Amino acid sequence: MGDSKIPVLDKGYVELQDMMGSDRTIVAAARVSYLQDSKGEQADKNLLEHLYKSGHGTPFEMAVFKFRVKTPEVVFRQWVRHRIGSFNVQSRRYTDVGEDDFYVPESWGENLHGAFERIKQDSLHIYKLAQNMGIPREQARLFLPGFAVYSTFIWTVNARSLMNFLKLRLSKGAQLEIRQYARAAWEIFEDKLPWTAESFAKKEWVKWD
Ligand SMILES: Cc1cc2nc3c(=O)[nH]c(=O)nc-3n(C[C@H](O)[C@H](O)[C@H](O)COP(=O)(O)OP(=O)(O)OC[C@H]3O[C@@H](n4cnc5c(N)ncnc54)[C@H](O)[C@@H]3O)c2cc1C
Repeated sequence: MGDSKIPVLDKGYVELQDMMGSDRTIVAAARVSYLQDSKGEQADKNLLEHLYKSGHGTPFEMAVFKFRVKTPEVVFRQWVRHRIGSFNVQSRRYTDVGEDDFYVPESWGENLHGAFERIKQDSLHIYKLAQNMGIPREQARLFLPGFAVYSTFIWTVNARSLMNFLKLRLSKGAQLEIRQYARAAWEIFEDKLPWTAESFAKKEWVKWD
């Protein structure tokens, strides 16, 4: 697939790598209760809305997304709290941190950018020095401003759990950075499961917009 890659923050992204199912897959799963399938577009949309409103969650588990995501640690440590889903994460034991692996908020002024750049250069210098002294990467990284370091992960998640993520992380109460990632995931979700997204938005939108 790989056709939906949305840039987020200064260097991150959310990319849809693969997907199983559609709105109709969810409808068909719900209608298996009566050994039936589609009853036409409007009836199917109405059913999806009813399912979502009434908390009949399992049909939404039949559609599954596989994302590749690049986030700074400050976002990842919040994301990974979502237990219903599968993660595989880039290892900073096996890959080096380099100049371009740090998140710096755009909203910071020149002074703060300058201060961060100085800390980054100093810490990268010690990080490399420590490695040259035989310290393994996983210990050398303790010298880095770790919350800012980007890494990449794969997240496989069903539509039910994705909607839980969206509800919580699009909310105004969530940190600005993860809200931006949630926006990107929302765009992909809405594109791939438009009827489900409509049902979700009707019930939840008011909470996060
Ligand atoms: C604005 C905001 C602030 C937050 N602040 C903090 C904080 O200060 N400290 C902190 O530790 N966390 C914090 N969190 C994280 C939050 O508590 C959740 O851990 C996180 O949002 C994942 O939500 P979840 O459990 O619904 O998702 P998932 O783990 O994906 O679970 C999905 C659903 O599965 C069910 N479920 C999963 N596991 C269990 C279980 N063990 N028992 C019963 N049901 C289960 C629940 O219905 C759950 O809603 C914050 C989250 C947000 C959005």
